[in-house]
Amino acid sequence: MDRSDEIQQQVVAAFESRTPLAIRGGGSKDFYGRRPAAATVLELRGHQGILEYEPRELFLRARAGTPLREIETTLAERGQMLAFEPPYFSPHATFGGCVASGLAGPRRPYAGAVRDHVLGVRLLNGRGEDLRFGGKVMKNVAGYDVSRLLVGSLGSLGVLLEITCKVLPLPASTCSVALDLSTGDALEQLATWSLRATPISAAAHDGERLYLRLAGATSRVRNFAASVAGEVLEDETGNRFWEDLREQRLPFFAGDAPLWRLALPAGRPPTPDAFGPAFLDWGGQQRWLRGPLDAQALRAWAAAQGGHATVFRNAQQGVEIFPDFPPALLALQQRLKAAFDPAGILNPGRFKPSL
Ligand SMILES: Cc1cc2nc3c(=O)[nH]c(=O)nc-3n(C[C@H](O)[C@H](O)[C@H](O)COP(=O)(O)OP(=O)(O)OC[C@H]3O[C@@H](n4cnc5c(N)ncnc54)[C@H](O)[C@@H]3O)c2cc1C
Repeated sequence: MDRSDEIQQQVVAAFESRTPLAIRGGGSKDFYGRRPAAATVLELRGHQGILEYEPRELFLRARAGTPLREIETTLAERGQMLAFEPPYFSPHATFGGCVASGLAGPRRPYAGAVRDHVLGVRLLNGRGEDLRFGGKVMKNVAGYDVSRLLVGSLGSLGVLLEITCKVLPLPASTCSVALDLSTGDALEQLATWSLRATPISAAAHDGERLYLRLAGATSRVRNFAASVAGEVLEDETGNRFWEDLREQRLPFFAGDAPLWRLALPAGRPPTPDAFGPAFLDWGGQQRWLRGPLDAQALRAWAAAQGGHATVFRNAQQGVEIFPDFPPALLALQQRLKAAFDPAGILNPGRFKPSL
């Protein structure tokens, strides 16, 4: 159903009356980020439908409220996928929420982030103006960067109406293996593999075992699996492990202790023991930690490594969810916010109090 006109009227009315809006797709990522300072909900869910899908041209365009499941099922029927492997966190996850949150699954370091796959967007800015940026194919560069800016903006810059996304063929063959290795040895081994072409499409470590997912041509996958000499997991077990990791259903994620996410450059050392056990994904570039940790110490360590730490779920009182931006970057973000949303009505405060 096309609800563009109705949604536009709501945004124009909110702009005129200076009424802050909480933008909502499926609500599957409501737990993530700060609570927006807005009581009026702008519901996007009914605005759904796949508008264009060209398997041979490797792109799909759909309304933002389309269930993510519908998009991925349609792609799978033609042997294709969203290569960034988005987490759902609920059956209600929408395509718009997936792009607005900018969250990606285990394949991210090997296939690119969400923003690398978004080709174009149609959005309403904070005045209710209907704008289009980008196109359908990678070589269309006009307005390209604006589409990418929207990825991870958590609705603070515009209401996504439509998204055009690059899609990729499913791998011919997939196989998961597990090796008993300490965190330090696993990180060293991953660093060695990163120096040459391998079929690795996911790499995680739970503190005791390194899990690898191999994907690609059957012979390449088979040969590499044999060379690492680990335990080859049954397809069902392996696939379930990666999905449970992506959806945070593994035992490590159980309970309501604060969940911290570290994003680090490649090749960084193990997380200090003082922060407790870490679950590594993305070959060590994304790390999960649990508990009411010392936020200042953790953020200082992450920053010293060239990364940052975010409270992903269940923040303790008084702990800022997103890390501080350096002043110059914050000023740039504030200018972007003012240009896209001059009345500050789109998800105000969801990301930072001033954004
Ligand atoms: C206007 C605007 C609004 C944004 N709103 C959000 C938002 O609401 N939520 C959100 O998570 N992100 C937001 N971002 C930041 C950007 O989208 C994040 O980089 C992204 O969400 C993190 O997801 P990722 O896993 O793709 O990238 P990451 O792996 O986290 O990082 C991508 C790159 O950006 C760097 N980076 C990311 N965040 C920070 C930071 N805080 N300080 C220093 N360096 C950083 C990383 O080091 C890395 O180089 C916003 C950016 C802009 C311009």
